[in-house]
Amino acid sequence: MYNTALANRKRLYQETGKGSTYNRDAKLLTEWKREAPWLNEVSAVPLQQSLRHLQTAYRHFLEKRAAKPHFKRKDGTQSAVFMRNAFRWDGEELRLAKMEKPLPIRWSRRFKGGPSSVTVTLDRAGRYHVSILVDEEIEPLPPIERTVGIDCGLIRAVVPSHGEPVDNPRYFERNEHKLAIAQRRLARKRKGSKNREKARLKVARIHARIADPRRDWLHKLTTRLIRENQVVCAESLAVKAMVRNRALAKAIHDVGWGELIRQLSYKAKWYGRTLVEIDQWFPSSKLCHACGHRMDRMPLSVRRWTCPKCGAVHDRDLNAARNIESEGLRLLKVSA
Ligand SMILES: [Zn+2]
Repeated sequence: MYNTALANRKRLYQETGKGSTYNRDAKLLTEWKREAPWLNEVSAVPLQQSLRHLQTAYRHFLEKRAAKPHFKRKDGTQSAVFMRNAFRWDGEELRLAKMEKPLPIRWSRRFKGGPSSVTVTLDRAGRYHVSILVDEEIEPLPPIERTVGIDCGLIRAVVPSHGEPVDNPRYFERNEHKLAIAQRRLARKRKGSKNREKARLKVARIHARIADPRRDWLHKLTTRLIRENQVVCAESLAVKAMVRNRALAKAIHDVGWGELIRQLSYKAKWYGRTLVEIDQWFPSSKLCHACGHRMDRMPLSVRRWTCPKCGAVHDRDLNAARNIESEGLRLLKVSA
């Protein structure tokens, strides 16, 4: 539907120099349905929603906030959005319009309250997911005293200023080897062949097997950091972490340092905590946490060092984490 409407808009623009609107596209829907009668077998709501998405994509393009809308790939993630009038939820079962049976869902979590929309996606690995938008009151956690700074370590994944460093989850490496083999196989398959599609699916499944536990691992980590600390201080950007840290880059790569910050940020809002983001150019590794002396250089290979001014002996990552925490708390005071 999205691609049909997009093709129509492009043609219209070429012939008349004019654009279209959601209302105009929606009127054409009846005509498109006559050409493809199977469109009548599904609810009209997700069809209209994809026209709305196209309208939004054009608006963002015209406001220069996004690139020109492009055709969606058939092997990309597919999605259908069902608004409130196109599904039924009785607290137990979810029924989509024009479907007789309820969806056989394996729930990852339960929710309270009434959903306002349901999105069904088919990911590149061939798996269906349902995400449900719910308005839910989240109880903030009782305030606590503890604060923490976190550094993206060289060997250990995340080094907090207090407590145990979190190891880089090594069990992903096995799948990474399999992925490389599957990708080589895919590269040898003829374009457009059935075998190529099979090989593509295989690659996508291995990608999912790597990405899923990583995301899960990251969720557990961010939830714990937010639960245990009133204030969490972290560097704001992946760039520095990535440059500094190839080993970790691998572990965080799929989900991204940006994803870690994103999770910390919304969980902090949910639970009444504070996330302080530190400028990525703050020299967290070069400052001595004990006396504030600043080193000119701090090569990647240095794991431990001794401050020439005060004699303090530092673990590289822990010292950086402590500096990130002090800087975060300082910024918080300034802004209060
Ligand atoms: Zn010092």
